[in-house]
Amino acid sequence: MNSTSKSEPKSVSSSTIYQVPGLDSHEMDSIAEKTFERYSSKTVKRNGKGISIVWYRNDLRVLDNEALFKAWVSSEAILPVYCIDPRLFETTYCFGFPKTGALRAQFIIECLADLKKNLMKKGLDLLIQRGKPEDILPSLAKAFGAHTVYAHKETCSEELQVERLVTRGLRGVVLSPAQGNSTSSSSTHNPKLELIWGSTMYHLDDLPISISSLPDVYTQFRKSVEAKCAIRGCIRLPKSLGPAPSIDDWGHVPSIEQLGLQSEKATKGMRFLGGETAALSRVSEYFWKKDSLKVYKETRNGMLGPDYSTKFSPWLASGSLSPRFIYEEVKRYEKERLANDSTYWVLFELIWRDYFRFLSIKYGNSIFHLGGPRKAERGWSQEQKLFESWRNGCTGYPLIDANMKELSATGFMSNRGRQIVCSFLVRDMGIDWRMGAEWFETCLLDYDPCSNYGNWTYGAGEFTCAFPFLSIYI
Ligand SMILES: Cc1cc2nc3c(=O)[nH]c(=O)nc-3n(C[C@H](O)[C@H](O)[C@H](O)COP(=O)(O)OP(=O)(O)OC[C@H]3O[C@@H](n4cnc5c(N)ncnc54)[C@H](O)[C@@H]3O)c2cc1C
Repeated sequence: MNSTSKSEPKSVSSSTIYQVPGLDSHEMDSIAEKTFERYSSKTVKRNGKGISIVWYRNDLRVLDNEALFKAWVSSEAILPVYCIDPRLFETTYCFGFPKTGALRAQFIIECLADLKKNLMKKGLDLLIQRGKPEDILPSLAKAFGAHTVYAHKETCSEELQVERLVTRGLRGVVLSPAQGNSTSSSSTHNPKLELIWGSTMYHLDDLPISISSLPDVYTQFRKSVEAKCAIRGCIRLPKSLGPAPSIDDWGHVPSIEQLGLQSEKATKGMRFLGGETAALSRVSEYFWKKDSLKVYKETRNGMLGPDYSTKFSPWLASGSLSPRFIYEEVKRYEKERLANDSTYWVLFELIWRDYFRFLSIKYGNSIFHLGGPRKAERGWSQEQKLFESWRNGCTGYPLIDANMKELSATGFMSNRGRQIVCSFLVRDMGIDWRMGAEWFETCLLDYDPCSNYGNWTYGAGEFTCAFPFLSIYI
């Protein structure tokens, strides 16, 4: 988290459009291919029977995907599935904004197209179906006799509820003894949902402290994990993951209109390309090609252009990039080029991301409540006109307006910009912070409930201490 201002915004023309990463498709394909090659294993062995399903959620990647790995090991064939859940396109909880804005929807569409392509290169495919996972997965498990559905574990209530419903649905499916994954299975049984932890840099099971005693001060958490916890190596997969089960219609990647949204494209500022190929390319571009990693600590508080910070967040949120892969790339860079405060600082920021995810387990739904984990009682306004001036970038304060317009136009805002507009909304306008958080939920390409609501409650002073972000006296 950045809390002091050091770097001045560089002058960049407001009509410039940057593609992130700024590489052509040929270069990106070549980077992804080489990275997959570097992370492939010739020694891992498959020892299961039957079919298993990989339920893709916010883990839209092949590299360092433990759910995919476990599914491969425990079966003779894998069926990767993505469900286009209609609930993702409904409205936000309190204020009725679109739950997924068009720019993030477009980013996810690109992630799905790229995942499908990368799985096909590995002898699989991605089955894309519209509907609720709790309806689709049990019905597929039944049709294919799949013994296990593997997926990554989530931590917030909406996602946990879907996990419970999928488990319940699978309990209603009865498989014959022959459809198990072991030769000793002699009676009928149900497919099971196996949830795997894979969204953070430090693994939940390796934390030196229990979740219930997680410190409320970031520095204590960081020092404790840095001193007592190792980061696990990335999971290595074999080159080929086939065969895939025989399916006539694998479904297609939807268009934005099929999701019920109007197409929107960033025409100025930054345009992020979705997908794992772009994610791996961005790491390569930022670390190796532009060598920007070595000055990250000095530039990270910037606000303009693609290279003042890593811009990894949209791919981390969709799971097309693994934080453990970033860690390994930082270590490789430190070995092959240099190690300094900047190389360390990217990891320092990723620990913030881990911290908010673990806090979401500790505090549950209170991170979404007005009083936050502190259960503080304070008077907030929900004045629509004031809120709309903030949301639409019409407050008359250029710094606020420019940041809010960037968010609407591109789906991105710098960390410093987010701190400033958050502070302005809650401190200067006295508006209910949840209105700001829900608007961010709509717009951000990198929206993730833990980081978003964690940072908002933190900024609103509802986490542990009052108003830790910048004060803006305008
Ligand atoms: C009000 C508010 C809301 C936010 N909402 C989100 C959100 O929904 N999703 C999200 O990913 N980030 C959120 N952030 C955190 C942060 O602003 C973004 O992660 C960062 O701006 C992304 O740009 P980057 O990848 O270039 O970051 P870098 O500066 O390059 O940092 C590297 C990575 O570290 C992590 N990181 C850095 N700062 C934070 C932080 N404060 N909290 C959590 N992780 C961090 C991110 O994964 C980021 O990609 C929010 C911050 C604020 C103040």
